[in-house]
Amino acid sequence: MEHQVDVAIIGGGQAGLAVGWYLRRRTDLSFVILDDQHAPGGAWRHTWPSLRLFSPSSYSSLPGRLMPTTGADNPDAAHVIDYLTDYETRYDLPVRRPVHVSAVHRDGEGFRLETIAGTWSARAVVSATGTWSQPFWPTVPGRRTFTGTQVHSAHYAGPAPYAGKRVVVVGGSNSGAQIAAEIAEDAELIWCLEGEPHWLPDEVDGRELFRVATERSRALAAGQPDPGGVAALGNIVVVRPVKHARDAGLLRPIPMFDRFTTTGIAWPDGREREVDAVIWCTGFRPALRHLRPLHVREADGTIRTDGTASVQVPRLYLMGYGDWTGPGSATLIGVGPTAKATVAALKRQLATPTPVPTR
Ligand code: FAD
Repeated sequence: MEHQVDVAIIGGGQAGLAVGWYLRRRTDLSFVILDDQHAPGGAWRHTWPSLRLFSPSSYSSLPGRLMPTTGADNPDAAHVIDYLTDYETRYDLPVRRPVHVSAVHRDGEGFRLETIAGTWSARAVVSATGTWSQPFWPTVPGRRTFTGTQVHSAHYAGPAPYAGKRVVVVGGSNSGAQIAAEIAEDAELIWCLEGEPHWLPDEVDGRELFRVATERSRALAAGQPDPGGVAALGNIVVVRPVKHARDAGLLRPIPMFDRFTTTGIAWPDGREREVDAVIWCTGFRPALRHLRPLHVREADGTIRTDGTASVQVPRLYLMGYGDWTGPGSATLIGVGPTAKATVAALKRQLATPTPVPTR
C-alpha cells in the first residue's frame, strides 16, 4: 500500500509528538507519525521502575499542555506515559503504530519510506527515533565467556534479583549513579568508572539544566560565542536516592577493570575479583539505522546538522537525539523550542524548490 504526506515523522516519543503539535498548530501540511511501539510513551516504556524525572512536573511539559502535578515527588515513568498518551489523544495527533520504518530512500525531491505497513512517500522527513533501542556495550576482553549475568541499563528491571550478590555497576553518568544507589542497599556494590564521578551541585536539578540549555540556545541563535552546556558543572544530577546513598558512603567508585575472568573482573595491575553480575550503564547511541540508504552518518555516529536540518540531505530533520540536535532537546521541556524551530524551517522549505543533494 502506498501513502502520501507532506511530512513523515519517524518516532512517536516526546520529540515526534512535539513536532506534530507545531505542525498541526502552525501549518496546513499533512503529516503522519510512524512509531514502532504497541502503545504511547517512547523511551519511557523502557526505563527501570524506580526512575524519577530530574525535575518536577511543572518543568516537564511539552508545548500546549502542562504535565499534571505529582506533589512532592518528581514524576515517574508511568506518569510521563499517561501524559504522553493523553497528549496524543487530546491533540488528535495522527500516530500510526506499531509501524517500524526500516529504510528511508531519496525519491526525487522527497523521500520514500519502507515500513512494515507499506510504503509512505513524503516531501520531508523528521527522524525522532530516540536512542533507547541502541544500548551501547563497550568491548572488554572476556565479556562473552564471563559466566555471571550481564544486563544493560536498557533492560534493568530493578534491584530484587541482585540482593545478596556481588554486583558490578559500570558507568558514571545518571543511570550508573541511580542504579548503583539502589543496588547498594541490598547487594555488595562494585561501582566501576573511568575517572571520578562528576556530581552536579546538590541544588541543581532539571530546572537549572533547562535554564543553562535555554541560555545556550539564545546565545547561539544570536550568533554569540557558545557559552557551553552544563558539562562544566558536572553530569550526575543528585536526585534524592543518589544523595542518600552517596552521603551514607555507599557510592565509592573504583577504576574500571580492563578484562573479565570466567568468574569475575580483573585490572591491569593483575588484581582480580569474583563477581556475580555486571550492570552496564554505558549509554546509548542514536537509532539511525533507517537512514542508512541516505549515507549521512559521520564517523561519530551523528549527522551534520544546521539547527535540526541535515546539512547534506535537504528536507531531512533530526529531533531529540541530544545537544547536537539542539541544546536540551532530549528532554521533555527542552524539545519544544527545537520542535518549533524545526516546523518553521520545514514550512519555509516546503514552500521553495529543493536544491540537488550534495551526495
Ligand atoms: P523516544 O522516547 O525514544 O521515542 C522514539 C520512538 O521512536 C520510540 O517509540 C521508538 O521505539 C521509536 N522508533 C525507533 N526507531 C524507529 C523506527 N525505525 N521506526 C519507527 N519507530 C521507531 N528526560 C527528561 O525530559 N527529564 C528527565 O528527568 C529525564 N531523565 C532521564 C534519566 C535517565 C537515567 C535517562 C537514561 C534518560 C532521561 N531522560 C529524561 C531522557 C529521556 O528519557 C529521553 O531522552 C527521551 O525519552 C527521548 O525522547 P525521544 O522522543 O527523542 O525518543
